[in-house]
Amino acid sequence: MQISTNTSLKPYHSFASDEHAKFFTNIINEQDVVAVSNWAKENNTPILIIGSGTNMLFTTNFNGLVAKMEIMGIKKITETASDVILEVGAGENWHHFVMYCVHKGWGGLENLSLIPGTVGASPIQNIGAYGVEVEACINSVTAFDLLNGAFTTLKNEACLFKYRSSLFKQQPNRYIITSIQFQLKKQPILKTDYGVIRDVLHEKNIKNPSLADISNAIIQIRSNKLPDPSKIGNAGSFFKNPTISIDKYNLLKENFPGLIAYPISDIEYKIAAGWLIETCGWKGVKKGNVGCYEKQALVIVSYGIISGKEVYDFSAEIIQTVFEKFDIQLEREVNVY
Ligand code: FAD
Ligand code: NAP
Repeated sequence: MQISTNTSLKPYHSFASDEHAKFFTNIINEQDVVAVSNWAKENNTPILIIGSGTNMLFTTNFNGLVAKMEIMGIKKITETASDVILEVGAGENWHHFVMYCVHKGWGGLENLSLIPGTVGASPIQNIGAYGVEVEACINSVTAFDLLNGAFTTLKNEACLFKYRSSLFKQQPNRYIITSIQFQLKKQPILKTDYGVIRDVLHEKNIKNPSLADISNAIIQIRSNKLPDPSKIGNAGSFFKNPTISIDKYNLLKENFPGLIAYPISDIEYKIAAGWLIETCGWKGVKKGNVGCYEKQALVIVSYGIISGKEVYDFSAEIIQTVFEKFDIQLEREVNVY
């Protein structure tokens, strides 16, 4: 294991601000994970795992060891007439893995096409898009438990998956995820009920879509609406969609008939945070090199050299104005350091 010191994090995260890590290393196998754990213990240093850095904001230098996850490999564990189980290294690129499954005809992850990041980060916030969350295809997650100093395999139920959350998000410094077992379907039931997917399939006159049709539709929708993090710095949706009670929803709907919201149970509604931010007038607003993306207000973008602190302060202003107008407290989805 090679450790560098005072390393710029700029190349390693998608806001590309120039904060530094006191120590930096790469993890390419399980032995490296153990070495990282031992080294951090001996040097009394916190560890931060980084995948592709597409869901992180550094507001200051990291006074510890940043370890970049690069464990690779896709291995078939079992295959039956209906299912395939694959074990995938945490450092694999998420979209490449989804494309691999789509080309093989194994369904379940196609709606999650073009999400940036690594496979290992996918369970952390239980990545989701277009009506699907990754938890639906995860059998188990293997991780090194820094608390117990040993590898452990957590079955799906033990991962405590929720909307944009999991055990790993709730206990952020405890686990280093090394591989994941996914279960995919050979005769998948396609999820096309999310409005825009139906619209694109209709436009293309596709009546019986294949996995590849769904994946291509999603790639098209995302490419038109979301900024490419390799060109414009961003970390996707900066805030979570808030959940409010039905009573509060009814009151808001009366005052703001255009409110975009979806029922999530008999007593709660999920509100589109992008709509709240846009209604406060933020869409397309730029302050210095930080801005609210002109095609989706939920995404904060950088248009040049920025510091993470500037992005954080910009997001704090958004939270404040949304609270003043709607009495709703937005929560950041991005992991802030
Ligand atoms: P990182 O940003 O590197 O890390 C995220 C967090 O996970 C950090 O806390 C990190 O310490 C931890 N972590 C990472 N890897 C490990 C590991 N192996 N073990 C332990 N901890 C680890 N998200 C969605 O849910 N749905 C979307 O549709 C979506 N669209 C996006 C679109 C854009 C344009 C962008 C920029 C982001 C989007 N995201 C989306 C957010 C992001 O892509 C996901 O959260 C993704 O899973 C992050 O992967 P990463 O490897 O970049 O994680
Ligand atoms: P959108 O389609 O403009 O929709 C706005 C919000 O309304 C979404 O956040 C979505 O919630 C909700 N929504 C829309 N149609 C819905 C339906 N039929 N049923 C339930 N909820 C519905 O959103 P978008 O920004 O273009 O993003 C499209 C998808 O990609 C969304 O699922 C979004 O979560 C995902 N995405 C996530 C990130 C991220 O960083 N987390 C970034 C970009 C896109 P949900 O978010 O719960 O789906």
